[in-house]
Amino acid sequence: MRSHLLSLFIASIAFVPASSWAWDYERHRLVNDLALGTLPKDFPAFAQAAKERILFLSGEPDRWRNNNSDRALRHTNNPDHYFDVDDLPAYGLKPELLSHFRYEFVARLALERKARNLPEPKPSANLDRLDGLPGFLPWSITEQYGKVRSSFSYLKVFVELGTPEEIANAQANVVYQMGVLSHYIGDAAQPLHTTRHFNGWKGENPKGYTTRPTFHAWIDGNFFKANGAPDAEALRKSLRPAKRLETPVARDDASGHFQLAMQYVTGQFKLVEPLYELEKAGKLSGENAKEGRAFLEAQLGKASQLLADMWYTAWLDAPPDRFLQSYLSERKLKKP
Ligand SMILES: [Zn+2]
Repeated sequence: MRSHLLSLFIASIAFVPASSWAWDYERHRLVNDLALGTLPKDFPAFAQAAKERILFLSGEPDRWRNNNSDRALRHTNNPDHYFDVDDLPAYGLKPELLSHFRYEFVARLALERKARNLPEPKPSANLDRLDGLPGFLPWSITEQYGKVRSSFSYLKVFVELGTPEEIANAQANVVYQMGVLSHYIGDAAQPLHTTRHFNGWKGENPKGYTTRPTFHAWIDGNFFKANGAPDAEALRKSLRPAKRLETPVARDDASGHFQLAMQYVTGQFKLVEPLYELEKAGKLSGENAKEGRAFLEAQLGKASQLLADMWYTAWLDAPPDRFLQSYLSERKLKKP
């Protein structure tokens, strides 16, 4: 179970800059920059024109976390950035069978906790009430994707029947939603966002992995600060053009996009031990950092690729907003 966010917070101010919650801002910007570069020509040009804003927004959900003493906001926002896959076995849960309904998942955790006599989180030691929640990253990705698609849905109708102001507002919303979605896709490519061992190995440690509470910040960006920035041009060349996503067959309680997001997150979880192995072998610092760099750069590229595919698919698949369409058609008829 994820240990208290409060102690993480204290550890973060004691050992690392408070902003080190994920890839740092520069890395999130790079993910978006690379993703925008892979979008086909038929993707709306206004989004490319808003490039700097989309890069700026890559850091937005982390701004909601930084220096924030608002417990209600911390409660709802912080767990959107991670999903500790290794917490699930204790609840008898398998990621591939989980429901895309966020609250159903929370209720299920409570039921399983009771049925298995797992300890109940103690409110007094858990001020943000986040103990007992493994995080919601696959849900955040799915829900934010839905918002990007929805904003394209109404944009398509405003373009047909709206005023220039309405079209401009709808475009601004698409840009905003694209930016917010990007953050969570980026976070998931940082393997430490998928594990209870998010900042040094916790508990039994037979392989002797690092327990240093600076490890998370090292992966987020300190590695690149110490060893030079990622090779953006090489990464750019390694990416294919964005394409329409192929998603698994939907279940009643799990859309294809949710299953895809879950597969993406669990795929990064499989890289948690390899990442700790790299550290142990000294390949994440100093003269032998080449292999570590290749690993981290590949993760950034992976995030860009999926992000661009999601943006592109949202654009292609967004159905026109029928409700808005009939409202605007009626409005047109009424106009003198
Ligand atoms: Zn984050």
